[in-house]
Amino acid sequence: MTDRVFVIGGGAMGLSVAIELARLGMSVVLSDRGQQDGGSSWAGAGILSTLPPWIYAEKISRLALAGMRAWPSWAEEIEQSANISPEFWTCGMKVLQEKDPQVAMEWSRMHKLVAETESGNIWLPAVSQVRNPRLLAAMKETALALDTRILPNCTVTGFKTENGRIVFAQTTEGEHPADFFVLATGAWSGLPLGNVLPVPNVRPMRGQMLLYPPGSHTLDHIVLHDGFYLVPRRDGHLLAGSTIEDSGFEAVTTPEALGTLHKKACQLLPSLKNHDPVKSWAGLRPGSPDNLPVIDQHPDFENLWIHTGHFRYGVTMAPASSRLLAELMTGTTPFLDPSPYSWQAALERRWQVAAAC
Ligand SMILES: Cc1cc2nc3c(=O)[nH]c(=O)nc-3n(C[C@H](O)[C@H](O)[C@H](O)COP(=O)(O)OP(=O)(O)OC[C@H]3O[C@@H](n4cnc5c(N)ncnc54)[C@H](O)[C@@H]3O)c2cc1C
Repeated sequence: MTDRVFVIGGGAMGLSVAIELARLGMSVVLSDRGQQDGGSSWAGAGILSTLPPWIYAEKISRLALAGMRAWPSWAEEIEQSANISPEFWTCGMKVLQEKDPQVAMEWSRMHKLVAETESGNIWLPAVSQVRNPRLLAAMKETALALDTRILPNCTVTGFKTENGRIVFAQTTEGEHPADFFVLATGAWSGLPLGNVLPVPNVRPMRGQMLLYPPGSHTLDHIVLHDGFYLVPRRDGHLLAGSTIEDSGFEAVTTPEALGTLHKKACQLLPSLKNHDPVKSWAGLRPGSPDNLPVIDQHPDFENLWIHTGHFRYGVTMAPASSRLLAELMTGTTPFLDPSPYSWQAALERRWQVAAAC
């Protein structure tokens, strides 16, 4: 009999795992309560890399690099099945005024990431990007093409549980029984959901973003300087971001942060002084200490699986992270060691002071 899966959350992490499981022949239903609440996936910059790669622990790099390597074929597959382009573009990334170019070059050599130095800057030609709203649209269409049922504006409010298993999810659209459940509720996974314990150490981390119009610049690659980035889009728009703010579930922009982002953008590209941003927005990342996600079974319910806490790098990690979760769910040998992403490991992590803008 076909396994039935109920996925909770329609961001990058819910959709990527829905696609993965549907490809394995499972019958998937995905519920999402809607984007108006500040979800992360549509709001992001879509840079497919850690920023910059050499400052992170190996357990983050392993998942991020596996994601980066999987992205070219993953993007092609979803573009073909959805007939919507996620605007995957290998535009490269220049890291300006790197403090320790030797460390950066050595790390890149060890991890087989092509890197070049030029006067204190590091050029990474293989770094790619996607355009988030288009990516989400393409992922939804791909999931639908694989016979996934998507329930928009459907909020999960709790669960009926029995003998250490979930029997059905209670939602605003009725009860949904399944054999497996996947919790991919982003920043909200750090809150209890009915009688299900919250995922340890996940909390919202707001990011604000500015968008400049076509004609405001001639940049054709990503620029990263001291944690701040500029990302040109294929149609000439330019993104400037972002902030990392521990400000609760307030998915709103603030004049101070937008002012700081504009100032930093103008310092890197003086031509922007003559152009007002056309748009700004804020999204809530599923923050986790050290950017480490939880990809594991829930300790209390054997048929509830967790896919959350990817913090700043969920889009980068999505193809690798969803593959890992699907392998754990189906009892297949995982392609990388899952222990750093376990529930237990998340319990043991500690938050340090969050970085600012
Ligand atoms: C400003 C910004 C810039 C970023 N830039 C990058 C980048 O360049 N590269 C990168 O890799 N990552 C980036 N990220 C991070 C990336 O966006 C996240 O790691 C990733 O999108 C997380 O996806 P998610 O599916 O876990 O969360 P979300 O996208 O937030 O999705 C969770 C969904 O669950 C739904 N939900 C919650 N509770 C319920 C419920 N009870 N019932 C039903 N649905 C529910 C929510 O409505 C939401 O739609 C950025 C994020 C931000 C905010």
